[in-house]
Amino acid sequence: MKLNRISVRWQIFLGFVGFAGVLLVFLWLFQIVFLDSFYQTIKTENIKSCAAAIEQNIDSRGLSSLVDDVSTQNDVSIRILDLNINNLFQDLYSVQASPDSAIHRMDFQDLYQYYARAETQGGKLLETTTNQWNTEYFIRGQNGSIYGIAPPTDRTSNESLLYVSLVPREDGSHVMLMLHSPISPVNSTVETLRVQLLIITGILVVLTLVLSIVLSRTISKPIVKVTESAKGLARGQYDIPFEEEGYKEIQQLNDTLSYAAGELSKVENLRRELIANISHDLRTPLTMITGYGEIMRDIPGENTPENVQVIIDEATRLSNLVTDLLDLSKLQSGTQSLTLTEFNLTQSVRSILKRYAVLTSQDGYKVDFVCQGDVYVQADEIKISQVIYNLINNAINYVGDDKTVIVTQKTSPGKVRLEVTDHGKGIAPEDVPYIWDRYYKVDKTHKRAVIGTGLGLSIVKSVLEMHGADYGVESEEGVGSTFWFALNTLPGPPKGH
Ligand code: ADP
Repeated sequence: MKLNRISVRWQIFLGFVGFAGVLLVFLWLFQIVFLDSFYQTIKTENIKSCAAAIEQNIDSRGLSSLVDDVSTQNDVSIRILDLNINNLFQDLYSVQASPDSAIHRMDFQDLYQYYARAETQGGKLLETTTNQWNTEYFIRGQNGSIYGIAPPTDRTSNESLLYVSLVPREDGSHVMLMLHSPISPVNSTVETLRVQLLIITGILVVLTLVLSIVLSRTISKPIVKVTESAKGLARGQYDIPFEEEGYKEIQQLNDTLSYAAGELSKVENLRRELIANISHDLRTPLTMITGYGEIMRDIPGENTPENVQVIIDEATRLSNLVTDLLDLSKLQSGTQSLTLTEFNLTQSVRSILKRYAVLTSQDGYKVDFVCQGDVYVQADEIKISQVIYNLINNAINYVGDDKTVIVTQKTSPGKVRLEVTDHGKGIAPEDVPYIWDRYYKVDKTHKRAVIGTGLGLSIVKSVLEMHGADYGVESEEGVGSTFWFALNTLPGPPKGH
């Protein structure tokens, strides 16, 4: 067990806090640190696309309204200038979106300078400028006519984008397209954002702390509870309740652990019963053997064949018990495999029944066999015989007053069903699911009359399941029981029969 592992509660808490931290770092980075460059990039793209729209329509008739639209929609000031015959700039269109538009404050020299620079740069020029014009200037209308004087602005050092493009016209001449867009408000925006972010950060930190504490508690509490219960389970307390609360996974875990606890307690009970049964089953014949042996040694005339027979019977019983135990443990450990052969099942039943002849003639038992025709199956003959033996033995052990056991072979296309019926006391419905378990005995009082190791049906179940066969029991208390199993039949006798 690693002691340095941190608890789930801390993990959730730290995870949450970490997540909020990363979130905040990103928020600050994007909102404050990179905002400027983001904004500039967006503005640059914007001014370029405005220019492209105008360039494409430079010769169209609707240029005037296009320029107006572009200007108002994008908050850009636009000038389109032509060089006239006197080499003087003349406004073809001019729209001023803001009073501090740099392109509207340029004199001829400035304009010419930009024209020349744009020319050297392949016709396009983009630059970020800082407004330095703090003097009043002429407001020009379209065609360059002056129609007013603007007062000097106080935003003397604001950043702005200036885009110049030399656009060829259809007649071969060039016009100079100038666009100007202020980018300065970003500083004040950053200030607002910073204040907002500080508030958001505060709220987020508090929220994160509260939420992560609450969440980590709600998530870890049921886990801690389950762990405590599971510890109890490990100590052998199988009756510890696994509570039906918490979220889905915990409920599933609780269900699984409850199931495991149930199974473990069953195994535990079985183990106890096993020890009780085995010691009882071993002790009784051993006591008899010792008792009879001592009588025969000590009392003259007691050395009779009947007494010797008792000793032999008891020894046989012991050996049966041990054989059953071994069989079952081999079957259940999965080390035994089936030896499949094709054989006559009906014939097998007949020869098994022959061995009960002594029983029937001496004690008045009656074992009937009802069948129509022989059937052939592919199965492990020895193990299937063991199944039939066990079922008939049980039927005889629990036989009714009529002392009759009926073995019935029923056939349907491709199937054979073998039934062993008695008219004994039957099995209570609540016991039926358990009779196939190891050492399960309905009658736990170990009446000597009822002989059994408690292993018979377990062996039957293991063998039939290995064969993939269906099996079951129909039983009614006071009426009797019918144990059955079904196997696939072969179309006819195997070759060589
Ligand atoms: P056992 O050796 O005790 O018979 P089994 O595994 O063969 O052990 O059977 C388990 C239990 O099922 C029996 O103890 C008995 O209570 C019940 N049982 C089995 N066969 C019959 C039957 N034919 N009639 C009534 N009860 C039966």
